[in-house]
Amino acid sequence: MDPSAQHSFCGLPYELSNFQGHFKCEPSVIVGRPSDRQQLANLVKAYPKVKAVGVGHSWWRQNFCSGVNSSAINIVTTELAETLPASQGKPERTISVDEEAMTATVAAGVTQRTLLRFLDNYRTAKSPDGYTLAAFSWFIDQTIAGAVATATHGSSFKHASLSHQLRGLTLMDASGSIRSITPSSDPHLWRAASVSAGRLGIILDVTISIVKNTAVRRSKEDISTEEFVTSLQRLQEDYKAAAGPAVAASSGAANQDGGNATAAAAGGLGSISPLASYAVWQAVKSFDEVQLFWFIPSRMLWRVTFERLTDGLSDEEAAKVMAADGPSNGLPEGAHAQMKVNAVGTGIGIDVAPTYWSDQYRLYLSINVVPGVYPARESYVSISEMENKLYAAWNSYDQYEVAVPLSKAGDCLGAVTKELYGPAQRWRGFRSPALVRFIRAEHSYLSPAVGEAVMYVNIEDHLSYINGNTNEDFQAVLRVFRSPVCGPARLHWGKAGWPQHAQCFDGAAEYPKTWCDFGCAVHQLDPTGKFSAEADRDIWQWSATDSSTGQRVADAGSCCSSSGFDHARCKCASRTDCSKE
Ligand SMILES: Cc1cc2nc3c(=O)[nH]c(=O)nc-3n(C[C@H](O)[C@H](O)[C@H](O)COP(=O)(O)OP(=O)(O)OC[C@H]3O[C@@H](n4cnc5c(N)ncnc54)[C@H](O)[C@@H]3O)c2cc1C
Repeated sequence: MDPSAQHSFCGLPYELSNFQGHFKCEPSVIVGRPSDRQQLANLVKAYPKVKAVGVGHSWWRQNFCSGVNSSAINIVTTELAETLPASQGKPERTISVDEEAMTATVAAGVTQRTLLRFLDNYRTAKSPDGYTLAAFSWFIDQTIAGAVATATHGSSFKHASLSHQLRGLTLMDASGSIRSITPSSDPHLWRAASVSAGRLGIILDVTISIVKNTAVRRSKEDISTEEFVTSLQRLQEDYKAAAGPAVAASSGAANQDGGNATAAAAGGLGSISPLASYAVWQAVKSFDEVQLFWFIPSRMLWRVTFERLTDGLSDEEAAKVMAADGPSNGLPEGAHAQMKVNAVGTGIGIDVAPTYWSDQYRLYLSINVVPGVYPARESYVSISEMENKLYAAWNSYDQYEVAVPLSKAGDCLGAVTKELYGPAQRWRGFRSPALVRFIRAEHSYLSPAVGEAVMYVNIEDHLSYINGNTNEDFQAVLRVFRSPVCGPARLHWGKAGWPQHAQCFDGAAEYPKTWCDFGCAVHQLDPTGKFSAEADRDIWQWSATDSSTGQRVADAGSCCSSSGFDHARCKCASRTDCSKE
């Protein structure tokens, strides 16, 4: 992490907890700070349970902690010798740019902010204003590997998540071997490794597309909740009409076909004709790059839009992009006992006056959306180091994010606003604004946008830390997002909501076309479950039935081929070992 963005409550690299000192692992779990790849390989081989971590900017203990005792080790990537120079102000030793290929290769533990700053300053005859990423997230102080492991995203139908912008990565698997994976070297492993939630191994570096840092006009308008829902209904219907019958069918009764129609739909897994994709682009383009800050208690939104003034893609090029396939202490050296770090407390007065706090956030954040023409790096909104420090150390909060299929976006937000402003008055459980963003369909097996374009909605609970009580108003809204009218919307892999909103998580139902393909990648790279973390039994389960007999297959791994799950021979099946009732 950039030192100036740090505060003293952050647990890593000494304590295994998140950036506010919450979601702590068992104190006996070992923390690995290997200095080089050899030491890292030794640790991976020595411990039966291993998990990579970046800087703890996430909210899911069970998938963050490698295990529950001293036979488990979390590996911190920021302390590797190949990463450290970046946090010591020498990023040129950890990031390399290829101006011909328009890519940057960056060590796993380098933060997105450091990468963006380096690219901005990388000024050459070919690009006098430097470079940037085509689309990046609002929050940029996470590691680049942590970001791609969880499909971290900003708002872009064209360029999609950071995972989607990758061109290759290097991963250490359970045997300690290093593999270079690209979309062409192994398309199956690529779709698994480009969003892996840390389940496949330790990402060591990534190669990501870059663009020139050209001028972008940022504009902002205030809109009402009603205008927002109406515009989403229009987007939903235009999208369904353009995407074709498969998407329209899937948005009726939820997942009646097990979601197959959704996954095959236009804008989906490369199954569309260029004409259909041009139609899809025309339907969604007024929302491309749009970010909406929804001040829920104040009942109004900022609609922030961006216009690239030079070097933008033409409509035909954008449509093509939409259709394209994405691409020391008795422990081994580098292993340490954890140190205890205090957690952030709670903000005075945040438990009352929701509208006052909503207006305060509006005031604080207004500096981030001032309309004007700026280089792309500044125009697309991201939180500053100072804001990060202030917000993180002031008040404990949990951030949740859900991915609503675009074919349900309008109906879903209609149901959510009824819950918020109807008799139950759920808006009282909100303080900071919701952030609404849009992403095209992606190809990574575990991308929440796999199979269909999505509307991401990011919301924060600032109340439950105050007295330890559940923020019932907030959780009721989450339940609407997780109900059929909204998809159910998939949960972000790096945020809160697990396991309470994913009880008996059924991967075959949530990711019907791709869950077992990811399982096959796990079978190949991690046969003993080294990277399964605490979430092992809750989440990382695969079952299959034989397509011809309908009988359950004893070992779902027997359905795997070198190109993934054999969908002709086997059917990916729901788990039977757990029931929500
Ligand atoms: C304030 C805040 C705002 C955020 N805003 C956004 C946003 O705008 N958009 C968005 O999409 N997300 C956002 N996030 C989520 C964040 O990008 C992810 O949670 C990200 O994973 C955090 O990165 P990290 O380096 O801190 O990883 P950690 O929290 O340390 O780890 C998170 C997950 O990534 C895996 N991981 C980390 N490093 C590696 C590696 N080298 N190899 C394999 N797996 C690895 C871990 O195993 C774990 O499962 C935000 C988070 C915070 C705290």
